Amino acid sequence: MSDLSPASPSRAVVIGAGPAGLMAAEALAQRGLAVEVYDAMPSVGRKFLLAGVGGMNITHSEPYPQFVARYAERQGEVEGLLRDFDATALRQWIHGLGIDTFVGTSGRVFPTDMKAAPLLRAWLKRLRDSGVVIHTRHRWLGWNADGSLRIAYPQGELQVQADAVVLALGGASWARLGSDGAWQPLLQDRAVDISPLRPSNCGFEVQGWSALLKDKFAGAPLKNIALSVPGQAPRKGEFILTAQGLEGSLVYAWSAPLREAIARDGQATLLLDLLPDKPVDKIAQALAKPRGSRSMAKHLHSQLNIDGAKAGLLRELTDQATFADAAALARAIKALPITLVRTRPLDEAISSAGGVRFEGLDEGLMVKGLPGVFCAGEMLDWEAPTGGYLLTACFASGLRAGRAAADWLARPS
Ligand SMILES: Cc1cc2nc3c(=O)[nH]c(=O)nc-3n(C[C@H](O)[C@H](O)[C@H](O)COP(=O)(O)OP(=O)(O)OC[C@H]3O[C@@H](n4cnc5c(N)ncnc54)[C@H](O)[C@@H]3O)c2cc1C
Repeated sequence: MSDLSPASPSRAVVIGAGPAGLMAAEALAQRGLAVEVYDAMPSVGRKFLLAGVGGMNITHSEPYPQFVARYAERQGEVEGLLRDFDATALRQWIHGLGIDTFVGTSGRVFPTDMKAAPLLRAWLKRLRDSGVVIHTRHRWLGWNADGSLRIAYPQGELQVQADAVVLALGGASWARLGSDGAWQPLLQDRAVDISPLRPSNCGFEVQGWSALLKDKFAGAPLKNIALSVPGQAPRKGEFILTAQGLEGSLVYAWSAPLREAIARDGQATLLLDLLPDKPVDKIAQALAKPRGSRSMAKHLHSQLNIDGAKAGLLRELTDQATFADAAALARAIKALPITLVRTRPLDEAISSAGGVRFEGLDEGLMVKGLPGVFCAGEMLDWEAPTGGYLLTACFASGLRAGRAAADWLARPS
């Protein structure tokens, strides 16, 4: 069933049926090629579906220069991919599946019903109608000596001949959804240049919260605050205090510089502004008002509305002397340093940094040392914050790899 006939004129294989792999399959099918897709899991697009659980943020509507700047060090490479398929093209593509999109207040773009499942269902139908064959429970294990692909399936192992193969195997977070990073040694054995996979959009750990803070406030959200790393403009939003440290959207937004600082210095500092809309002198004035016999905790609550987890964290991270001095406490409220010592494990992260380096790929994302082998999606060495940038680059790279694989198959021999 899965073994492709050696007589088949051009054998296009995609491994990994997430958004990047399915997009590559679509691009190949659009060129009239027979495409076989293999995925290790019992069903496809599991991480894509999970991304839809909290509201599928598929791309972002901000102006192009800001959009491409989100890819930071890999802006140049990802911009090259977005030339074929940017946020506008992605929205049109979704509309072509019969699903409408809308722009949320933050500029993020969502399918109208916020879900991934209807989109994936419509897409899979279109792919199957165009002849794409999808094999689930088929795990790629590498190559045989004759260059064929080793594919394990419940009944044994297949040797699959392919003239072009697109690998779209994902990063290594949420391994239970399929992307386990097991491809790394398989490609390293073939001398593919890989930057080690690291957590991105991840939580962080502190040296240890006090038992009091943990017991009372682990799991508590801190809203209407701002976070910054030294030397950078603060960003407003919210995060969650965890038993080990911090997590949540605003922490994820700083995850790349924090992770790199920890790798370099063994720790990183995150500055918390508990009252981003109040200047420090106004805070100092409010704190300097007579408080009579009231405790500082009550004073903070009545004057500045600082209580609950915010007050707990302030108490945790300031010493007695600061707490007793209005001016010093006001400064602490505006820039409370939180020392982070570790990222949370990669498996918990929203995405992976690192992967197959662009330097080892050509314009069509073909591995320079492995003719006919293309890579796409999160397994490439780029990272971006949440906001739809991850999926956009996965789709764009899948399209590029699929088109380039089709060109490769059509080249004069
Ligand atoms: C909780 C969560 C929420 C997210 N929300 C968003 C969001 O709102 N917006 C956004 O832009 N991004 C979001 N993301 C990120 C986004 O889902 C991923 O970046 C994207 O799915 C990566 O696509 P991909 O095709 O590269 O890889 P994946 O989606 O990981 O797919 C890889 C596929 O390869 C298969 N595979 C792996 N190894 C093998 C093998 N050896 N043999 C065969 N098959 C194999 C896997 O089973 C899997 O199906 C979220 C991620 C998480 C975890």
